[in-house]
Amino acid sequence: MNFKNFALLFLLGISVVSCSQETHSENTQNKELIFAKGEKITNSNFTGDVYLNNLVEADSLNQNAVGSVTFAPGARTRWHSHPAGQIILALDGVGYYQEEGKEKVMIRKGETVKCPADIPHWHGASADSAFVQIAITGREKGETRWLEPVTDAEYTRSN
Ligand code: MN
Repeated sequence: MNFKNFALLFLLGISVVSCSQETHSENTQNKELIFAKGEKITNSNFTGDVYLNNLVEADSLNQNAVGSVTFAPGARTRWHSHPAGQIILALDGVGYYQEEGKEKVMIRKGETVKCPADIPHWHGASADSAFVQIAITGREKGETRWLEPVTDAEYTRSN
């Protein structure tokens, strides 16, 4: 092998190693997930870093909107309610769900939550782990009602 070929192989080797390291450190938690995490949410209905991938739009025949939501550790929604309720499918990580007047519960990968219509609640990641959910939201009775942010005191309160 001449020097030119050797140098080429050497550079190729470096780039392969740096690519795989980048992928590994960037997103170890999501590497086997089916849906892309989508775009970062920039509105004030969430606290912390949250990403949304709108998967299915509601229409007149099937009035459910389906989205994949990825919460960084500590990130969460505001308190809010859904006029036609919501179903949460936990895809990855560890999250929290709390309805007004009830204790906060932990949601883990593979678990589901059915949020009743018009009940104020919030959901998001736990403090130590990201959380990925599919949210199926009925739209036939109108838009989500956004309420107050979940304070740090509310978020960290132990049951
Ligand atoms: Mn909700």
